[in-house]
Amino acid sequence: MAAITAGETYPDARITILEKNKTVLNKVRISGGGRCNVTHKPSDSRFFIKNYPRGEKFLKKLLTKFDAQATVDWFEKRGVKLKTEADGRMFPVTDSSHTIIECLTRTVKSLNIEIQTGIGVKSFAWTEGQNGPRFSLLLDADHNMTADKLLIATGGHPKTSGFTWLSEHAHAIIEPFPSLFTFNVPNGYLLPLSGVAVQDAFVKIIGTKHEWRGPVMLTHWGFSGPAILKLSAWGARDLAALDYNFTFKINWLPEMNEQQVREFLIGEKTNTPKQQINSHSRFGIPTRLWKAFMEKAEISETLKWSEATNKVLNRLAELLTNSQFDVKGKSTYKEEFVTCGGISLADINQETLESKKVPGLFFAGEVLDVDGITGGFNFQNAWTTGFVAGKEIGKIS
Ligand SMILES: Cc1cc2nc3c(=O)[nH]c(=O)nc-3n(C[C@H](O)[C@H](O)[C@H](O)COP(=O)(O)OP(=O)(O)OC[C@H]3O[C@@H](n4cnc5c(N)ncnc54)[C@H](O)[C@@H]3O)c2cc1C
Repeated sequence: MAAITAGETYPDARITILEKNKTVLNKVRISGGGRCNVTHKPSDSRFFIKNYPRGEKFLKKLLTKFDAQATVDWFEKRGVKLKTEADGRMFPVTDSSHTIIECLTRTVKSLNIEIQTGIGVKSFAWTEGQNGPRFSLLLDADHNMTADKLLIATGGHPKTSGFTWLSEHAHAIIEPFPSLFTFNVPNGYLLPLSGVAVQDAFVKIIGTKHEWRGPVMLTHWGFSGPAILKLSAWGARDLAALDYNFTFKINWLPEMNEQQVREFLIGEKTNTPKQQINSHSRFGIPTRLWKAFMEKAEISETLKWSEATNKVLNRLAELLTNSQFDVKGKSTYKEEFVTCGGISLADINQETLESKKVPGLFFAGEVLDVDGITGGFNFQNAWTTGFVAGKEIGKIS
């Protein structure tokens, strides 16, 4: 995005993309389960920025220059139509990330931007010359390259060491941590229910302020789904400080509290006295999950509502509204994986994305200490910062 915008804004500039991998845009390829969740349904920037646990204030102004609607228009102008799903996520109508890769690479080619793959940048030096700064890049295999301007869009890295070559230029690095991860609950009694989803649940991490309401999915290692991923993003730093050992609780019926559920269950003793509790789920709870609760509450398969003691129904009410689970360590199963942390925003000009430490040096994307929740917000950060940096990078300072 940055290279294309610079190429379109400064047609005389000679632009080279250096990519250490054999191919470009690898994350785009695997993103959104191979469909690429390009952005999120455009909305007022006051609401849109609330989806960024880190970098909200920084992005606010930048989004006025290139927001989700601008992204939709940008791709449409280049032949890619996006569609919006019920939850607001936007994908190419082809449901294929290749459409996005094809669009970006085609546009790069049309602008004569050179792409060199298999070439990593190891470090760079800069000097303040008569005609402005000059960069000298040390590449893999001891190759060198010079440039008048440099834009770094190297993405996130889970370790501070991944940013050392940038901190050499006095850029403060905010310690990186994983964000957007699933919860690992080994030996949980719900593990055999992998694939079962509850569309509306309330999840709270005990001992913290972190809570979220939304869909929860059971997996063969624990819990996933938007509510869990969003909690992992908002709680990224606190959960890392806990070394990913914490307890969370779920109210599977967020519209009700334990007392209301208890009263409903006791009412069933007179409403449906002859029915077996096990045989028909209540409240729209998926059958497999309901049966797992039966087992956990020690309700036999044949027990009828009329036979249930209040003690048994209390156990069930508690499971439905206050199920507790222990997370033990970080899950290694990736769904959408982003790192928070990176280049400190305090060192970056918010209008231009130019470094305050090194003139002529620009940053864009996940390398910055900006990260969004799941739903297309991380790519939007990349499009927005890439676009603005690409517009600014060719200006004579
Ligand atoms: C599995 C997965 C699915 C995702 N799905 C979505 C989604 O659907 N929607 C969404 O919004 N976000 C999604 N994300 C997050 C999103 O992919 C990233 O936030 C986004 O790609 C960041 O873009 P970027 O250009 O900053 O960095 P990246 O896409 O990481 O690109 C950085 C590039 O720089 C190269 N590089 C790194 N260091 C060097 C070096 N020293 N020299 C040369 N090249 C270098 C890397 O090889 C890489 O190609 C997903 C992430 C993952 C891992």
